[in-house]
Amino acid sequence: MYKKIYNTIKKYNNIVIARHINVDPDAMASQIALRDSIRLTFSDKNVFAIGAGTTRFNHIGKLDSKDHIKDLDNILFIVVDTPDKKRVDDCLEKYDYSIKIDHHPHVETFCDIELIDDKKSSASEMVLDLIRNTKLQMNEKIAKSLFCGIVADTNRFLFNNSTSDTFISVGEMLKEYPFDITECYSNLYKRQFSEIELLGYIATNMKITENGVGYIKIANETLQKYKLDSSSAGSLINEFNNVDELLVWTIAIEDVKTSLIKVSIRSRGPVINNIAEKYNGGGHKLASGARIPSFEEYDLLVKDLDKVCSSYIERSDEDENN
Ligand code: AMP
Repeated sequence: MYKKIYNTIKKYNNIVIARHINVDPDAMASQIALRDSIRLTFSDKNVFAIGAGTTRFNHIGKLDSKDHIKDLDNILFIVVDTPDKKRVDDCLEKYDYSIKIDHHPHVETFCDIELIDDKKSSASEMVLDLIRNTKLQMNEKIAKSLFCGIVADTNRFLFNNSTSDTFISVGEMLKEYPFDITECYSNLYKRQFSEIELLGYIATNMKITENGVGYIKIANETLQKYKLDSSSAGSLINEFNNVDELLVWTIAIEDVKTSLIKVSIRSRGPVINNIAEKYNGGGHKLASGARIPSFEEYDLLVKDLDKVCSSYIERSDEDENN
């Protein structure tokens, strides 16, 4: 598969690389690293990374303006970190051939070539594998981007998606490009004091259901009080990873820009992505999200999560008694 992808990249002079809407560090890093590696390997190709960015991830790299691709034809489209067509941050129709590289569970087939592996920690790890297994080239900047994407999606190698392959690939990359890894950590985990204040608010106001679902609704007024936007607030979900009382936890944030409620869900065991899918969302087994129309619908989602936790606890008790 890596060879097939490499040969397809080799064939096209015009290449556009996209990823999912509501960009996160792994989506951005895998996209930028792949663009930079193709540019480094084939200096005569036009390669562009497109999509809506955010200043918070400027440290990963710079995206390209869509103006560059207006007059191009015969374009290869590569989409990373995106399992379904509706969440691609671009429209696929104008491209001649397409490749998907993704680590989410399969949702739908919409590209000509699809490299999907939901055992991989991140799309960045998959791009690293692609580079390591083909003649695509790497440099320190590309290595830094990939490291940043892998660190973000594994939460500093804390989640169980960090496999021995992840450590080997990252270890060998760091041996070849021994950059200062603390720079990546400080870029990713630097916080404004107001985020810590909001974290305090969440910890104080989070409710916990009978079966261990922690949940909180954050209205726009609260965001304004802490002078934060919905994506900075949403990133606080990972701060609750090791709380003993929580089996599943979720944050619902009002997003006035889209008039929707942005929901993030995390789990320490029960599978949650099928609940996210029920509410028009999706994601990984233990880390999912959704956009829903109202806080009333969020109450229903929390009830569903509570049922999933209840069955999980029952099954765990049965296993213990057998
Ligand atoms: P988040 O909570 O936004 O960090 O998202 C966690 C995971 O859920 C990521 O893999 C996202 O790609 C996925 N996800 C978040 N929101 C949605 C959505 N509206 N639809 C499908 N997947 C989503």
